[in-house]
Amino acid sequence: MRAGHASGRNGFVLVRRRLVQRLKARGIRDARVLAAFEDVPRHDLVPEALWGQAYKDTALPIGEGQTISAPGIVATMTAALGLTGGESILEVGTGSGYQAAILSRLVSRVISIERIPELAQKARVGLEALGVGNVELLLGDGTCGYPEGAPFDGIVVTAGGPDVPRPLLEQLKVGGRLVGPFGPKDGQVLVRMRRTGRARFTREELGSCLFVDLIGRNGWAV
Ligand code: SAH
Repeated sequence: MRAGHASGRNGFVLVRRRLVQRLKARGIRDARVLAAFEDVPRHDLVPEALWGQAYKDTALPIGEGQTISAPGIVATMTAALGLTGGESILEVGTGSGYQAAILSRLVSRVISIERIPELAQKARVGLEALGVGNVELLLGDGTCGYPEGAPFDGIVVTAGGPDVPRPLLEQLKVGGRLVGPFGPKDGQVLVRMRRTGRARFTREELGSCLFVDLIGRNGWAV
């Protein structure tokens, strides 16, 4: 550990405040979302060798060929869910646990699914150390969703798939939203789906992005 940079909320306080200023400048206005980014110590969820880069707006390697998404896109996706508190949210692609930790500050319940056991285990340890109590971590193929926990107020997919997995749409509440990156492997569009009726959905495109592959039954083949 470097001098002056502790684990937990007391480390990198000013650096994190600067990150929040940058998120504001990028157009993130939701005060609760901004407070969550000020609160969650992203450095604790990346390898210590990368602490110096933990609050830059970039993705960083977390092992197993995967990355923790850049804070800017995590903020955009979180804001796009339009959370007011009390929601039940499904995340597909736990990775480092950062997006789950952000969501945990904003809603009552988060279920997050990861397909790689080593990452799921690391995220479990990391989230426990942060004292996050309302996130349930599951190991499996998130492209099938989690019917046992459905319906969800919101679903966030944090890996890039060819198209929106059908089972996830079916597990949304009417009025609920799904946000995620969909399209070719070399560049996706951030999509927001809203369920407006039992069999009715609207689709919006929020910009281009690049994520690691969503691998599974309703994603890319292994
Ligand atoms: N939300 C994460 C982003 C991690 S990158 C964070 O905040 O750090 C995306 C993650 O999705 C990777 O860990 C990858 O293993 C996982 N993933 C890919 N396909 C998946 C699937 N079908 N089900 C669950 N997780 C999946």
